[in-house]
Amino acid sequence: MPGTTPPHTSSEVPDGTVDAVVIGGGAAGLNGAMMLARSRRSVVVIDSGTPRNAPAEGVHGLFGLDGTPPAELLERGRAEVRRYGGTVLSGEVLKASAADPSADGDPRFTVTMADGVTLHARRILVATGLRDVLPDVPGLAEHWGRSVVHCPYCHGWEVRDEPIGIIATGTASVHQALLFRQLTDDLVYFTRGTQLDDDTRARFAARGIRVVESPVTQVVADDGGGIAGVRLADGQLVARRVLAVATTMLARTDGLEDLGLPMQDLPNGMGRHFVTGMAGTTEVPGVWVAGNASDPSAQVGASAAAGALAGAHINADLVTADTTSALARTTR
Ligand SMILES: Cc1cc2nc3c(=O)[nH]c(=O)nc-3n(C[C@H](O)[C@H](O)[C@H](O)COP(=O)(O)OP(=O)(O)OC[C@H]3O[C@@H](n4cnc5c(N)ncnc54)[C@H](O)[C@@H]3O)c2cc1C
Repeated sequence: MPGTTPPHTSSEVPDGTVDAVVIGGGAAGLNGAMMLARSRRSVVVIDSGTPRNAPAEGVHGLFGLDGTPPAELLERGRAEVRRYGGTVLSGEVLKASAADPSADGDPRFTVTMADGVTLHARRILVATGLRDVLPDVPGLAEHWGRSVVHCPYCHGWEVRDEPIGIIATGTASVHQALLFRQLTDDLVYFTRGTQLDDDTRARFAARGIRVVESPVTQVVADDGGGIAGVRLADGQLVARRVLAVATTMLARTDGLEDLGLPMQDLPNGMGRHFVTGMAGTTEVPGVWVAGNASDPSAQVGASAAAGALAGAHINADLVTADTTSALARTTR
């Protein structure tokens, strides 16, 4: 599985209370952990090894690293965190919850992993990413991340000039169609029962986007593991090499329920994400969220940047708490 870290040994699990536990070791979590480790904070990343872009061959649109395989980028990130003394554990967080604060009111958390390991932390960075839910079209899911794509900036250049089909799921598909039209002259929009107003139809026609209203019954594979086309209810096969689909993007919440983090729906049924403020802060003291879990539109660069910012913010928060408690000790 791309992105999977090897199983950890018990000697890797720190005793006592660490400064921060980072839940999720993708771009956001690893960059957040690196900022914390470089600030001499004790930090543990826990990662279940299923990053969102695992099916993709390369990370695109990331300057200096364009085309790097996702698993290779994450391996480099884990090595960088470890180089500064951070710990990266392979496993799933089953439960994260607030514990009793310290005597001077500093937040405390307990994090339990699926293998029974329990960690205690002063701060939590949630960087669990999101889950893409595909429309229920037979044959579609098998090609996800290769011939079935979602993002013109991630895969657009790679599929330029191909016969592309938009498998419509709602309003976001209209925007997606116009973006993919920038990459190919041969674009078919399969409405799948979604509505198109007259203005949109006129705009599509002006750009030469063909609209197909017949229901889609199946995505048909070719002999080489790619896509041959889209089968319609009337039996016709519309030849396509690539399909683009706007997924429903759901922040990954497994094990986080007890933290009580506020969530919000995206418009037009596009998904659901954690609500954050400046630098990934949340309404729950001591908990930050970064990356796709809070910003579904963030690519790898933006997710990494959000994680780095949250990590720096957590360190600053800990500096304030440490200084306050040092001051209290001197005046006792
Ligand atoms: C097919 C595809 C291709 C893409 N290609 C590109 C591209 O070319 N360029 C680009 O910039 N972006 C690309 N993206 C977007 C990219 O995947 C995201 O921007 C990026 O993965 C977000 O990083 P993240 O750290 O927020 O989440 P993720 O990378 O998804 O990492 C989250 C991590 O948290 C872990 N996790 C979740 N829950 C738990 C738990 N309870 N306990 C422990 N661990 C947990 C997961 O296993 C995962 O490893 C692509 C997306 C897709 C779907």
